[in-house]
Amino acid sequence: MKKGVLVCLNCGSTRLKRTTFLMGIIPQSSYVCEECGFESPVMLEVFPEQNRDE
Ligand SMILES: [Zn+2]
Repeated sequence: MKKGVLVCLNCGSTRLKRTTFLMGIIPQSSYVCEECGFESPVMLEVFPEQNRDE
């Protein structure tokens, strides 16, 4: 499995912080951008090296 890099959906920064909060009794994780403050449970994942056999 390849490791991707998470980038902010709002500004494209890779400086994301993962936070966990409780939604009722269910723990949910979310990402917060340290650049623009954008928060989302899902961020864009990019794979810089795409050397798959074509
Ligand atoms: Zn951002």
